[in-house]
Amino acid sequence: MSDSLKLSVHQLVDFLLRSGDIDNRVFNRSSMTEGARIHASYQGSQGADYLSEYPLSQTFYINEIAVTLEGRADGIIETKNGDFIIDEIKTTVIPLKDFKDQNLDWHLGQAKCYGLMFCLEKELKGIGIQLTYIRQGKEKDKMIESFTFIREELEQYVYSLLEDYLNFYAIILRNLNDRTSSINTLNFPFEKFRKGQRSLAKYSYSTVKSEGSLFVEAATGIGKTISILFPTIKTLGEDENSKLFYLTAKTSGKESAYKAIEILKESGLCLNDIIITAKEKICFTKKCKCNPDECPFAKDYYNKIQTVLRYALLNYTTFDYTRIVSLAKDYEICPFELELDLSLFCDVIVCDYNYMFDPISYMKRYFDEDSSHFVALIDEAHNLVDRSRDMYSASVSEYEFIEARRSLRNIKNIKIKNQLRKIKKLFEELHNQYSDEYMVVSDFSLETFKVFTSFTNAYNDISKENHDLITTELTNFYLDVNRFMKIWELFSDRYIAFYLNRHDLISLNLRCLDASKFLKSILERVKSSIFFSATLSPMDYYKDTLGGDVENDPQVILPSPFSINNFLIMVAPKVSIKYKDREVSYSYVVEYINSFIEAKAGNYFIYSPSYEYMEKLTSLYQNDNVDIFVQQKDMDDIEKEEFLKNFKAKPERTTLGFLVIGGTFSEGIDLPNDRLIGAVVIGIGLPKINFESDRIAEYYKKQDKPGHDYAYLYPGMNKVMQAVGRVIRSETDKGAVLLIDERYMNRQYQDLFRDEWRNYKVVFNADEIKEEIKNFYKK
Ligand code: SF4
Repeated sequence: MSDSLKLSVHQLVDFLLRSGDIDNRVFNRSSMTEGARIHASYQGSQGADYLSEYPLSQTFYINEIAVTLEGRADGIIETKNGDFIIDEIKTTVIPLKDFKDQNLDWHLGQAKCYGLMFCLEKELKGIGIQLTYIRQGKEKDKMIESFTFIREELEQYVYSLLEDYLNFYAIILRNLNDRTSSINTLNFPFEKFRKGQRSLAKYSYSTVKSEGSLFVEAATGIGKTISILFPTIKTLGEDENSKLFYLTAKTSGKESAYKAIEILKESGLCLNDIIITAKEKICFTKKCKCNPDECPFAKDYYNKIQTVLRYALLNYTTFDYTRIVSLAKDYEICPFELELDLSLFCDVIVCDYNYMFDPISYMKRYFDEDSSHFVALIDEAHNLVDRSRDMYSASVSEYEFIEARRSLRNIKNIKIKNQLRKIKKLFEELHNQYSDEYMVVSDFSLETFKVFTSFTNAYNDISKENHDLITTELTNFYLDVNRFMKIWELFSDRYIAFYLNRHDLISLNLRCLDASKFLKSILERVKSSIFFSATLSPMDYYKDTLGGDVENDPQVILPSPFSINNFLIMVAPKVSIKYKDREVSYSYVVEYINSFIEAKAGNYFIYSPSYEYMEKLTSLYQNDNVDIFVQQKDMDDIEKEEFLKNFKAKPERTTLGFLVIGGTFSEGIDLPNDRLIGAVVIGIGLPKINFESDRIAEYYKKQDKPGHDYAYLYPGMNKVMQAVGRVIRSETDKGAVLLIDERYMNRQYQDLFRDEWRNYKVVFNADEIKEEIKNFYKK
């Protein structure tokens, strides 16, 4: 058993002393942010004898285990007669007495820990403790509860807390011992390394050991997930406090991580892993109204969670969706909070990017604390460029506002109506000022700030006092405004602020053009990070936009391990898919598709440059000898799965999937062997010229970087590379790709061709396509 443990005061008291219900009317991101602001303002208003955010650390020995307790006291007051008082500040939206009565043990327990730690540091015989309660939105409303303790009382109390915690922690330590010993003897789970796997594993291991960053482009088929997970899990054995965050953009990424961990577990690995499912997907009520009045699973959550954690950690090591839902049902508690709480005791956390990078929904429990033992593995990292821009952008729309206002029309005397009237006035003034579709401004007005702030304050007030009056539409609008205010704090030259007037409805927009600085500041807090993808070219572009160091971060590029003879790639340059030429392209494209699929019955994907193009193409495409399935907008996970089932193994008849490039079927789709034998890519994947991409281009141009390439070319070609990557998934796959567009012959596109495309064939008409395909299958 390990003989030392580092623990924060928060971890200790939150685990042992918190009780009651989940109630996001009281505890939510907005009240936490507002709480932090009030904390800082209160601390700032204290005199010179007030020490704010005082860091404390003490080691306690319990049953031969050294427990180092760490934390920061909100304030330490030195009185005139040389005594000391620990000040613990708590803020809330509800009446102070209610808040204190519901949480006194928890709050006082925290302050007592700081009290003892300070007594030990200064060799004091006793200390005063003050709990300062402040009402949010009514900051003059304060309540102070005072206590005095002698050191022995505090010692008795804190030691008994630590003993309780260690009792539970015996389970964790047992798991930790199993983790270390299993990792020490863990071997690569396959008999031999595939081409490229050994070097990828080596680089990944040394990156974590040297606490650096690594950018990896590894073609499909190398087995990059296992090649990165295996060595990075190995490093967990050398640092008891370490955790891996496997961050993904899509469900498919989570599934590959889960499968790779399963394989390692079958080879003897013993650790706890968890897949975090989004709240809206796992919520039992599907409404995400997290309070005891509206959700039975919120009730008594904190009274039950200790028992559930003990049971779960004693009996299981893998926590996927099914396991979490089953545990939560058995104990009648919220599955979402359960997965977050369980993750604290897991070694590998598989989750969406936003749990680490989103400025609002990141996991505070990890990334507001010491993150220096964590390793971030960023899967399909090419997606993070756009995702991070989205995460750091926000908008408030008049449409959502109208919906919110309309939803309250039958509710009388709801205090927030006054604030909504002010917002209405704000939109009316904007209509008078702005009639163009886009209107860029240097910043939004102070008036906007005031109106939005008083709206969020009013919402927070009624959230607790008259929660049953709050409608879903009002909450949606509040969440938008709240996010907008948070993003506004980050506003800089990396942003544009603009009004958008569409269909006579105005929205206020803060669009992040470059999120690299934000990503960098998060990544600097973790020990190490590995960005990987099958398509991360050009590498300098990705390093630049993902917060890396273009000059110094190491990179690895691993080409496809599969035989080049199994892959035919053709470029058809006689047709232009430029926007202005599209009308004349359809008849050629139809002819090309028929030639492409003629030689062999099987499953093919046809990627169009847009929905508009796909609709026209499918309306023109007639072929009674094939089955056709067309991608629909906004397909959910089940519909996607059903769609893919149409592409069966051992097909006797040809099946065509008409899809949109860059859409849901362009990546993360694995149809091995003959479930997919070919793809036609129409166009070069570039987004249509648009306002926001133009602003991105301008932004980078100002920095002497190739703006157009950053905004259009690189993201576009990435989509093409991802689509092409669907065809060859294993050593036994054989397949062909046809790229249709004259621009593929241009140098700037050819420079981005992957190694395995170098032998591409140029085909000038349908007959040549037919001929090439026939020869390819004859080989
Ligand atoms: S089950 Fe849903 S509504 Fe209930 S607490 Fe959990 S997330 Fe909130």
